Amino acid sequence: MTDCTKIKYPNRPAAIQAMKAIVAATTTERPKIPRSIYPCSRCMAWHLTSQEPKGKGARRWNAALRS
Ligand SMILES: [Zn+2]
Repeated sequence: MTDCTKIKYPNRPAAIQAMKAIVAATTTERPKIPRSIYPCSRCMAWHLTSQEPKGKGARRWNAALRS
């Protein structure tokens, strides 16, 4: 039951790892590099998003990226 066209990651660590790999491979300023991950309520997988994390969660995402 998936109607998501985004790339799916099975869990949070996998999504974080994928995001870090993409960020590391990005050498030029691109408007749509992934900035955070989120669990999808439709397909139950994790997706990357280029939207800036806001509020309380932002700090956690930054910490996850550095680790
Ligand atoms: Zn989804």
